[in-house]
Amino acid sequence: MIGIIGARFDEVQGLKDIMKKVKVEEKAGMQFYSGDLCGKDAVVVRCGIGKVNASICAQILVDDFHIDYLINTGVAGSLNNDMDICDIVISRKAIQHDFNTGALDDCDPGEIPNIGTKFFDADDRMIEKATRSAQRLNLGVKVIEGIIATGDQFISDKDVKDYLVEEFDADCCEMEGASIAQVAYLNDVPFVILRAISDKADGSARMSFDDFVSKAAEHSMQLVKEMVVSL
Ligand code: SAH
Repeated sequence: MIGIIGARFDEVQGLKDIMKKVKVEEKAGMQFYSGDLCGKDAVVVRCGIGKVNASICAQILVDDFHIDYLINTGVAGSLNNDMDICDIVISRKAIQHDFNTGALDDCDPGEIPNIGTKFFDADDRMIEKATRSAQRLNLGVKVIEGIIATGDQFISDKDVKDYLVEEFDADCCEMEGASIAQVAYLNDVPFVILRAISDKADGSARMSFDDFVSKAAEHSMQLVKEMVVSL
């Protein structure tokens, strides 16, 4: 069973639309669509914005749907000057940029004390399949394997953006991926995060997000469709 999480309506609706033999179950205010996606058993769900929603959702997928793979699809702000609108970042690893206990215990920013890790590594096999799928799809956009920085805030400030690049060397920022990664890690489920760029995470981000979120979300979903077939 493949679990697929998107935060917003337009990040998953295109997948729900093409599912067959769909069964819908509601848990924690989220609707879980299970059925056949491109010939594979899958469950697709919109979790809502942010790390708490995303982690509740991921744990439900583990406990109640017994997923073997976890994919997070959606949009993100670019932190990498080479990455433009609709380009795609495939996670090599993800970090929670707003997690910081350093004033107390000298842990690094992003480091989760009881786990002792800051970066959660995506599954090598899933990364490879995502990259190969992107090559096959040939969407005409740049696709990289990179670092995803997650936090409970929409980044639209050049100084914050610069901090995320300096501290974490991150390629894009969003609000769910690394929390999903932590749930996957704790439950020993392989995961990958796929994000298409909707904005540049600077002063232009608000307008850009509104203009491009749907198109970017569509790119990421296309990659999901191509990738699930190979899982
Ligand atoms: N009220 C809006 C809030 C969207 S927040 C709504 O309900 O749609 C932005 C979403 O897109 C989050 O899910 C996040 O994962 C992603 N995202 C895109 N650009 C981002 C940026 N610059 N900073 C943080 N998250 C971003």
